[in-house]
Amino acid sequence: MTTASDLLTRNALFANERWRSDVSINPSGNLMIIGCVDPRVDPTYVLGIEQGEAAVIRNVGGRITPATLKTLAMLQRVGAANATGPRIGDWNLVVLHHTDCGMTDLAAFPDLLADYFEVDVGDLPAKSVSDPASSIRVDTDVLLQSLRGPAFNVSGLVYDVATGTVEVVVPPTRLRTT
Ligand SMILES: [Zn+2]
Repeated sequence: MTTASDLLTRNALFANERWRSDVSINPSGNLMIIGCVDPRVDPTYVLGIEQGEAAVIRNVGGRITPATLKTLAMLQRVGAANATGPRIGDWNLVVLHHTDCGMTDLAAFPDLLADYFEVDVGDLPAKSVSDPASSIRVDTDVLLQSLRGPAFNVSGLVYDVATGTVEVVVPPTRLRTT
């Protein structure tokens, strides 16, 4: 078991060797990633994210739920409040789903999933919880329908836990402005 003491030891190394004073609250890559909590799919590792480059939201499945949309709306305000860096609105929004996701195990608990997505149980099949190639399209569609902005790109990637490779399923797609 990794203990809090282990973490303090690692943090001391980080503070001494890798901490940077120039990392800003707004991600240097104008990059937001929404991915799954699964430890195999940490974007820092699988996408090679640098310190301060991306804001990362992780939830069960990396799904775009009403709660995710609320978080994005809040982050937009935070970004605007700290608008000293790159132009606000000029963002890459990347959704990262993956094979062998634990969401599949939750298919046996439709009430739980319906509550998560805030949909009726009968509408759950449309969320494609067992098929990342399909769920990534569902979620990028939700973003494209829900968000507006002059310079937002939405992309959908699927990571294969069996090979370590990422496939672009939904290429960067511009948000509508109105
Ligand atoms: Zn997962």
